[in-house]
Formats: sequence, structure tokens, C-alpha cells
Amino acid sequence: MQLNHTRLLNNLTQLAQFGKVETGVNRLSFTSEDRAARQWLVEQMREAGLDAEIDGIGNVYGRTRGVDTAVLIGSHTDSVPKGGWLDGAMGVLYGLEVARTRNESNTLPGLGVDVISFADEEGTYRALAGSLSFCGELSDVDIKDAKNMHGVSLTHALTEAGYAGQPRARIDPSRHLAYFEGHIEQGPRLEVEGQKIGLVTAIVGIRRSRITCTGQADHAGTTPMHLRKDAGAVLIRLCAELLNRFANAGSELSVWNLGHIVFEPGAGNVVPSLAQVLVEFRDPRPEVLDRLEAEINAAVAEFHGQQGVSIEVAHLLSIAPADMDAALVDTIEAATRQQAVPALRMPSGAGHDAMVLSRYVPTAMLFIPSIGGRSHDVAEDTSAEDICLGADILADTVALLARQKGLA
Ligand SMILES: [Zn+2]
Repeated sequence: MQLNHTRLLNNLTQLAQFGKVETGVNRLSFTSEDRAARQWLVEQMREAGLDAEIDGIGNVYGRTRGVDTAVLIGSHTDSVPKGGWLDGAMGVLYGLEVARTRNESNTLPGLGVDVISFADEEGTYRALAGSLSFCGELSDVDIKDAKNMHGVSLTHALTEAGYAGQPRARIDPSRHLAYFEGHIEQGPRLEVEGQKIGLVTAIVGIRRSRITCTGQADHAGTTPMHLRKDAGAVLIRLCAELLNRFANAGSELSVWNLGHIVFEPGAGNVVPSLAQVLVEFRDPRPEVLDRLEAEINAAVAEFHGQQGVSIEVAHLLSIAPADMDAALVDTIEAATRQQAVPALRMPSGAGHDAMVLSRYVPTAMLFIPSIGGRSHDVAEDTSAEDICLGADILADTVALLARQKGLA
């Protein structure tokens, strides 16, 4: 399969015109820019010979005609506010280019290439809404409850867009041999290590906890130090302890972030009565996540009651890690070896639609380098050469898989 690189790059540039802002895109889910991009995409899919529709949640789904078996390739075309032009969009257009090339060249007669752009991956209303819906994990109640930060409901957005009432497309494990998602790395590892393709072994699990220290507000000038119930001072010491504990208990792949801290009442002359921190941590292995959570509990137990400050912890979020399909990762690796392309096995530190799909069909992701590791910003970029190389590796992977399965 010989992809048309010029067409792929032109399509990427065209898609980036919808919601273009500086060198990036502002294409929040179900805005007019996002809807126009979806309309453009459904037309592109039809031109490529696919049966394509926009479904009841906004997924753009194109199916190959006349086959019983297909690979599914996709990602998302919505963006974060002032996001980059490649995040998600590239993975969708990889699918479009592979499908179009297959249909034009009459290769792989026994294996179709279905293409999908999942709605609202970035969570303007509900993170991963499109892939959850596609896998049957998004109920009508979930849709009814979802709102954006301005209080606009997802139901309203879907109605405005004209998607409400359309049937919702579903994954078909008897048809879909595999799901592939090509994506920019969104981090610096490939570039720093001189690698061209990231072979994603797993998508990390994410946990988030909120630690709340409660003391007593007093005059910061008149209250002697030893008589204060200083929630702020206790929290700061606890945070320092936590950073040490995480460094000891984490794996070499663990990351953590003390992302938000509040002191109340929040004045220079008042002893803080309340201090709160949000702790988030990620790792591809559930047992490591358990270990890190245990460290939080142990640190809280150690500091609870110091200086008359009580401490509570709430574990707010737990997203399980998702392993990619080992055989598919091997197949992508074989495709990189064929072309002597340097590739690195690595986990994904960011969430992707692939984590949902992996629960239903064999799933794999490939990463290409992000310049300077930048993403979720208009500065996000990747060289044309690397974009095309990633697409070629994906096409080769599909061809290899077809041969492995006797469908070539
Ligand atoms: Zn993305």
C-alpha cells in the first residue's frame, strides 16, 4: 500500500482551517467549528468510498463496503481550547488515507478499513463520550447528566448540532479485527531519545486524591507559634513528605503532580484554618497505583492530629490502566523493523479513546514525535517527514496483520 503523502498533508492542513487560531485550532466539541469539521470529514470519507454517517453522539464513522472483516482506525477531531492541529486529527486522517489508498488500489480485498472520529474525547461535556458510546458504555442518563463548564447540557448541544435522535454507531467485535490509533506523543521522549515511532504498550491509569487539613483561623500576629492550629503549615510538610514517599514507592514510569493547593481564608495576617491539595498520579501498573495510594494514606495517618490539625483524604478518581494488545504491538514493531525505523516501547501518559476500545477489541497505538514535547497548545507540531512515516508504518502494520490472518 503506497500512501499519498501530499494528500495526507493537504487534508491535515485543510482540517486545521476549522477553528484555526494562530498555528493551532480552537475546536471544542459541538461548536460550529467542530461541527463543520465533522461535516467536512464525512464528505471526505464518502469520497474515499466509505459508507459514512455522523451518529447520535457526533461520532463520524465510515465503513468499508463489501467486507465482513475490517480494522478500525481513528482518534478524535475535537480539541482543547487553543489546542494543537495534530492532537487527534492526525490519527483520524491516517485512517482516512489508509482506507482511501486501500479502496483505490484494490489491495487487501479480504480486509476492510473502517475509520472513526470519536466525539468529545477532550471532555468539553464528557471525556471520551464518543468512544464510550461506541462501546456501549454511555447511557442515556450519562448523556442527560453531562454539561459543559457554562452549564450547557450535552443533550442541548446534540440537538443544536442535529445529531440527537440519530442512531448511535456501535463497535462490532465480529467485524473489527483490531483498533489502531496513531497519535502524536504529546511529550518529549521520542525526540530526546532519537526515536521515530512509539510502540505504546499500555495507557497509564490515573488516580486523584484530595487531602484536606482543618485547623483554626487566628490572628497571625498575636497567636504564639506553639498555640496555632495551622492547617497550611501542616499541609506543606505533608506534601513534602508525600513527594519523598512517591519517589521511593513509584516505578520508573510513575509520574505525580500536586496540581492545586488552596488555603482558607487566604490572607497574610490570618493563620490558615483550611488547607487542601489535589494529588494526581499515573502509572501503567495497577499494583503501583495501589502502592502510591497507600503512601498517601500512610502520610495522612502520620500527620493527622499534629498541631491540633485534623486531616481527611478523599480518593476522587480512579481510571484503570489499559494494556495494549501484545500481538498487535509486535506487529507494529515488525513494520518498523522492515523499514529500519528506530522505535521505542513506551506507555502513554495521556488518556486516549484506545483505552476504551481496548476493553472490546485488540487495540494498539503508535506515537510519532512531538517537537519540543509540546501539546495541548498552539505550539504543538511534528515534521511532515515524521507525520508521513507514522502513516506508512500504520499502513504496513495493517498489511502485515492481513497477511498474518490470511486476509491479504
Ligand atoms: Zn488526543
